[in-house]
Amino acid sequence: MRSYRKELWFQVGTRRALINITPQVEACLKESGIREGLVLVNAMHITASVFVNDDESGLHHDYEVWLEKLAPHAPVSQYRHNVGEDNADAHMKRQIMGREVVVAVTEGKLDFGTWEQIFYGEFDGRRKKRVLVKIIGE
Ligand code: ZN
Repeated sequence: MRSYRKELWFQVGTRRALINITPQVEACLKESGIREGLVLVNAMHITASVFVNDDESGLHHDYEVWLEKLAPHAPVSQYRHNVGEDNADAHMKRQIMGREVVVAVTEGKLDFGTWEQIFYGEFDGRRKKRVLVKIIGE
């Protein structure tokens, strides 16, 4: 069995953003040379997510509205976590949107369902953060 590991770095200029990272993951897969196996992609921070869904701007707006209803950023004083920081909502948004995804690799390609794409969800940006890509297989 072969294995491959790479860290992808992101620095988002805003507090929150959704980025389609499918091209970067596909580049990792190509670099790995693995044709059959599994790829794991996970955020290496507790205020960011990796998830699979549709690359559709209306949906991304709907996520933003929905997540703000579930865990509003303000007032920051509503959260006990916010002693010396202001990112309690980002921890909760990350929990809902998930830490990682696993995608099958078949004949050298990401074996997606219809419209599936891999996203990085940033909920406390404006600093450098990492995503881990781990690929195992043959
Ligand atoms: Zn925090």
